[in-house]
Amino acid sequence: MKILMIYPEFPDTFWSFKHALNFVRKKSSSPPLGLLTIASMLPKNWEKRLVDMNIEKLKDKDILWADMVFVSAMTVQRKSSTEVIEKVKALGKPIAAGGPLFTMDPEAFPSVDYLILNEGEITLPLFLSDFEAGKAKRVYETDEFPDIKCSPMPDWSLIKLNKYDSMSVQFTRGCPFACDFCNVTSLLGRKTRLKDTQQFVAEIDALYQLGWRRNIFVVDDNFIGNKRVLKEELLPALIEWRKGKKGCLFITEASINLSDDEELIEMMVKAGFTQVFIGIETPEEASLAECSKSQNRNRDLVSNIHKLQSHGLQVMGGFIVGFDSDNEGTFQRQIDFIQRSGIVTAMVGLLQAPFGTELYQRMLREGRLKAEDYSGDNVDGETNIIPVMDDGKLKAGYRKILDSIYSARGFNDRVITFLKTYKPRRHAVTLEFQEIMALFRSIWTIGIVSKERREYWRLFFWSLFNDISKFPLAITFSIYGYHFRKVNELHVS
Ligand code: SF4
Repeated sequence: MKILMIYPEFPDTFWSFKHALNFVRKKSSSPPLGLLTIASMLPKNWEKRLVDMNIEKLKDKDILWADMVFVSAMTVQRKSSTEVIEKVKALGKPIAAGGPLFTMDPEAFPSVDYLILNEGEITLPLFLSDFEAGKAKRVYETDEFPDIKCSPMPDWSLIKLNKYDSMSVQFTRGCPFACDFCNVTSLLGRKTRLKDTQQFVAEIDALYQLGWRRNIFVVDDNFIGNKRVLKEELLPALIEWRKGKKGCLFITEASINLSDDEELIEMMVKAGFTQVFIGIETPEEASLAECSKSQNRNRDLVSNIHKLQSHGLQVMGGFIVGFDSDNEGTFQRQIDFIQRSGIVTAMVGLLQAPFGTELYQRMLREGRLKAEDYSGDNVDGETNIIPVMDDGKLKAGYRKILDSIYSARGFNDRVITFLKTYKPRRHAVTLEFQEIMALFRSIWTIGIVSKERREYWRLFFWSLFNDISKFPLAITFSIYGYHFRKVNELHVS
């Protein structure tokens, strides 16, 4: 069998970092970890190729080469996925699909031949055994969660490493919390399932042996779901592994209770974690109560974030407006909160109800679901729920937040707040030629050509004269700001 694996294209969103990646001549943030893992589970004698449409065009001859096409996608890749399916079917090839988009909405894809839903460690072997016996069914699904210790090492040989800004790996799946808008728990459960420490370190080491030195994103739903294993096993092993090595610094996702555990923070920083994404959502206590975000309640969120930053972790934050409890004052309070927090990479979305969540069920009961699907794009200014607040006021308030926090002035004020608090830990890194070139490209594109040039030079000289060690980070953030403004212009303004 010849298998073509296709990863559909992401739209131009906050997380695509498309406008920023161009400065370092990278095509995509990270490769399709799900497909690479699936590739390792296919029979060894099957020939495999991968087309990641975020780095290269899908050609008819790629499809015609294959006996079967595998596609995996997240909800935000729906449009491109639909086009891929049409193209593959027009060329007469069978197609198998999996991943969150298809698991959450299988009925939307009637022309897919095989739907391999939920987690592939359970459903793919069932499909493969039926397929080889000539009796494959159309749908494979399960309500069980696999032990991910049996998940194989991703097949990195299928990708062009140098086209990506970071690599992705996974140590855990699932999250112990129960935020009502989040589909992580409906897709992956509330029990934290972990890989073996040796298994995970072997994956990191394989990337290192391939010559990878840039960031590695540990794409767990909540990395700190099992703190004991982190402290006793994984982090000591990563600290040991890091000795004498360069680069390969880690980014991950965690809940705010990380800030309560100094020992854990210190170990993570020592192990090479430099950035963490945290769902902050809102400073409004009533809205946090409404969405069952108990871990964020009754705490000083700004102090918690500053604590992480002062230990050497850059915090990226997710924020939401449009809760039933939100009012017209919420928008300014969100702006003030984000600015005080110094969270530079602040993603603000309208509340959406993904299929399978508690929130979706409540909206269904209350007759408040719109006809439109959940888009999966957190910053497109759309929502699939009918808000309590007047729709026009909600959209206007949302625009006010984005226009304020991504304005060149507001953004740079936040960068300076962050740089004053941040105390980075020294790790050995390698400086790539394209990173040096990114400085010159930023001077030209943002410092000379763009209308925000005054702000570019304000941050440039502030970092030079106040803390030159943070100058490279200031330039990186100037480039991020440029990307966020481009996406904001595209979707909202
Ligand atoms: S903490 Fe994050 S991953 Fe866990 S349920 Fe809440 S939003 Fe989802």
